[in-house]
Amino acid sequence: MYPQLSPHAKTLYAKLTAFVDEECLPAEVVYERQHAELSSRWMIPEIIETLKGKARKLGLWNLFMMERDVYHSGLNMVEYAVLSEVMGRSFLAPEACNCNAPDTGNMEVLAKYGNARQQAQWLNPLMEGSIRSTFLMTEPGVASSDATNIATSFRREGDEYVVNGRKWWSSGAMDPRCQVALVLGKVDSPVTAAAPRHRQHSILIVPMATPGVKVLRALSVFGFDDAPHGHAEVELAEVRVPVSNLILGEGDGFKIAQGRLGPGRIHHCMRAIGLSERVLALATMRALTRRAFGKEIARQGAVQRDLAQCRISVDQARLLVLHAAWRMDTNKGAKGAQQEIAMIKVVAPSAGQQVVDTAIQIHGGMGVCQDTILARAFAYMRSLRIADGPDDVHMRTVARYELKKAMEGATGPAADAWYRSGGEFAKENGQSRL
Ligand SMILES: Cc1cc2nc3c(=O)[nH]c(=O)nc-3n(C[C@H](O)[C@H](O)[C@H](O)COP(=O)(O)OP(=O)(O)OC[C@H]3O[C@@H](n4cnc5c(N)ncnc54)[C@H](O)[C@@H]3O)c2cc1C
Repeated sequence: MYPQLSPHAKTLYAKLTAFVDEECLPAEVVYERQHAELSSRWMIPEIIETLKGKARKLGLWNLFMMERDVYHSGLNMVEYAVLSEVMGRSFLAPEACNCNAPDTGNMEVLAKYGNARQQAQWLNPLMEGSIRSTFLMTEPGVASSDATNIATSFRREGDEYVVNGRKWWSSGAMDPRCQVALVLGKVDSPVTAAAPRHRQHSILIVPMATPGVKVLRALSVFGFDDAPHGHAEVELAEVRVPVSNLILGEGDGFKIAQGRLGPGRIHHCMRAIGLSERVLALATMRALTRRAFGKEIARQGAVQRDLAQCRISVDQARLLVLHAAWRMDTNKGAKGAQQEIAMIKVVAPSAGQQVVDTAIQIHGGMGVCQDTILARAFAYMRSLRIADGPDDVHMRTVARYELKKAMEGATGPAADAWYRSGGEFAKENGQSRL
């Protein structure tokens, strides 16, 4: 299916597929059993360390990393996208391969923009998989889909910044291994106040153990706590960190965040497609084996139509994501593929949601209870239409690029031709229609 993969990527694809099918998928029940036996939801089942060890041995570790100065997996974005789909089929594979959000994005930031000291202190243990991290941008007090609203303040006092603010939806912050947060905020200064809106924010490294960092509560997603990683509400009250914890410079926050989110959206979308494939397989199997009104459900025309629509949506979404990944590979990274990245962030989670919804319907009552992965998958797909930017905001980006292109081409004979008949245009320009 992917003839363009390099021999290296093909080898990894085969190894990863076997690892996911033979190790990660069967380990899910073990993980759940071990998790249920622990004294707290916020403890880590030991099976995950076993899987991490196996992935490492197989060379399936840190596959996402493409920063040459740090470590390069030898993959391009298209190739890693293909592997992300395979990992997405399992709830455990991304972490087993140290390719899980939000750590991947945080590692990319530290690899790309961190200095040597920051990398030694935080990137190395993250790449080792010995600690985890969180990304603190969203705030309960402001509409965070417009990130220029982010209000957490960084007050400079001597060699320190003093951080004050409240964050929520801090994914991974409940994890007992989470030791560091990348925090988006605004330096309190006249220079910041006078800067353009997209140059007012900065990113600070804040160790979770710093006095004043308080995890207030875990948030649930449609009732799922997503333990042991979770999503937290976090208070930052008079949190003091050295000035040297600033990543890049004051005002570089959006530049860094954009660099983080581009590849992350490819990963998220391909994982969503991987999960969609797993769910679609469940739907078809159920439809083929469950009988109602004298025949298998799969023989009902309405069910066939729904299944067909799912297949079309998933394949369309995959092609669009691979196209965005290819644009990143060939057109200056995420910066050169912003419209495509915005498109996939709308399309892939919606396709996934449609597939899960169909699968739930086909499963009947079983589809909404705890006996299958479907309820969890639905919560995941639906929330992905908000996490990492709501659909509407990505639609806005797509439209703005479209309008920009139109405005740039809005003058001259080529643009006129769109509005006139070919004959009229050709006559005026002295050309033959033939
Ligand atoms: C499961 C999950 C995990 C998350 N993980 C993280 C994380 O790790 N770190 C982090 O910082 N954040 C995280 N988030 C937060 C997420 O990124 C934000 O919820 C999202 O950016 C929206 O911000 P908001 O909730 O403040 O919504 P608001 O900004 O209040 O927006 C509300 C709604 O307004 C509408 N809207 C906004 N702008 C427009 C527009 N231009 N046109 C039309 N409609 C519009 C949209 O429908 C939008 O959903 C996570 C969220 C979820 C659900």
